[in-house]
This record gives sequence, structure tokens and C-alpha cells, in this order.
Amino acid sequence: MSKITNLHDVYVEQLKDLYSAETQLIKVLPKMAKAATSPELAKGFEEHLEQTKEHAARLEEICKGLDEKPTGKTCKAMKGLIEEGAETIEEDASPAAKDAMLIAAAQRVEHYEIAGYGTVKNYAELLGEDEAVELLEQTLQEEVETDEKLTEAAESINAEAQEGEEEEEEKTTSKPTRR
Ligand code: FE
Ligand code: FE
Repeated sequence: MSKITNLHDVYVEQLKDLYSAETQLIKVLPKMAKAATSPELAKGFEEHLEQTKEHAARLEEICKGLDEKPTGKTCKAMKGLIEEGAETIEEDASPAAKDAMLIAAAQRVEHYEIAGYGTVKNYAELLGEDEAVELLEQTLQEEVETDEKLTEAAESINAEAQEGEEEEEEKTTSKPTRR
């Protein structure tokens, strides 16, 4: 990458960073859907996968308009968030506890994206990139909606996780009596 000298260059860099983040998510969202026990949560991840593909396509379109390639950058922050999410998937946990952890990981991702899109949308506004502003706003709204849906899903799932697995507890506390 050549020297970054103005807001346009910063804009392109940030678009590439987001593109890397979105393409990493396209790979991991099917795994999160598979790991979820709650059918609603799994469906939510699947739906967001479709949206995420659209988010990547919008970034491709914006970059094309700027005569830039969206590829070539790795979003290390998203890589880290996904690594944490992957740890969650591997964790030995009750179904409700695992779902709660998947939501925790997913909301971190959404908030990261919301921050990123808010920033690039502002750059696009300043640079007079009106079409891009609209595309970025669409994506931003979808990220916000996804975050809200996750908050909603967490209400029942966290309550379930709070109850815990009583059956297993009984198994370990009531020792078999010898005759
Ligand atoms: Fe996205
Ligand atoms: Fe997202």
C-alpha cells in the first residue's frame, strides 16, 4: 500500500478492513449456526449469513466505483473475535450455556461491525460518495437489527442457562448406595 495521505485513502483502507471482516464471517457463521442448539438462534445465524454475503457484495461494489480492489488486507481484530468464537464452539458446555456464549461472541462481532460501518459511512458522507453512503447505511442498519435480535434471543436463553442442568447435578450429588 502506498502512503496514506488523505481521507480518501483512509476510506479505502477502512473499506478493505471491513471487507476482510465480512469475508471471515461468511466462513464462520455456518459453524455458529451448527453449534447453536436453539433453532431460533441457528436460524438467526443462517439469516445473518445471507446478509453478510450481501454486505461483502456492497463493499465490492463501492470499491469498484473507486477503482480499488477490496482484497489484500486482513482484519486482525475480526480474526481474534472469531478465534474466541471458535473456542466457544469447542467448549464442553450445556446447550443453553453454549448458546449464551455464542450470543456473547456474536454480539461482540456485531458491535465491532457497527463501529466500523459508522466510521466509513461518515467518511463517505464527507467525501460526497452518496451512493456508497446509502449502501453503507443499509448494512449498518442490518448490523444494528441483528444485534437487537441477539439481545432478544439472549433473554430466554440466558434465563435457561441460569437454571442450569439440574439433572446432572443430581447425578453427581446422589451417590449410589451399596448393599
Ligand atoms: Fe456484516
Ligand atoms: Fe454482522
